[in-house]
Amino acid sequence: MNDVDEIMARVQTGGKVTHEEAEFVVRNVQRRCKGPIKPEYVDQYAEFRAGAGSFGGQEKGYDLAAFDAVARLGCGADFNDLLCTFPFDGTEHSEPCQNCGTVISFRSPFFLVSG
Ligand SMILES: [Zn+2]
Repeated sequence: MNDVDEIMARVQTGGKVTHEEAEFVVRNVQRRCKGPIKPEYVDQYAEFRAGAGSFGGQEKGYDLAAFDAVARLGCGADFNDLLCTFPFDGTEHSEPCQNCGTVISFRSPFFLVSG
């Protein structure tokens, strides 16, 4: 047995995982670069982002995903490829997308990785 549920059950009880298992869990969620913000939307985007907060904003009546579809140029690069080049140690990063150069700020997922 080597699926996401099994690995996460171990994570939740403080157990260790291998780097491959951690990467498997990370890649189970699709993450795509949304591309640069269209120049005409930059101000509005900052306002909207501040209103929506750290997450998608649904609980505050914002739909960031819908706004992204309108206000960003799109890219589609697999953000998991970038995410998985860093240790799974919970630290903050700001890195340019390898495809479009948009700087993406993120916190690495945290796993207790064995070996
Ligand atoms: Zn990109």
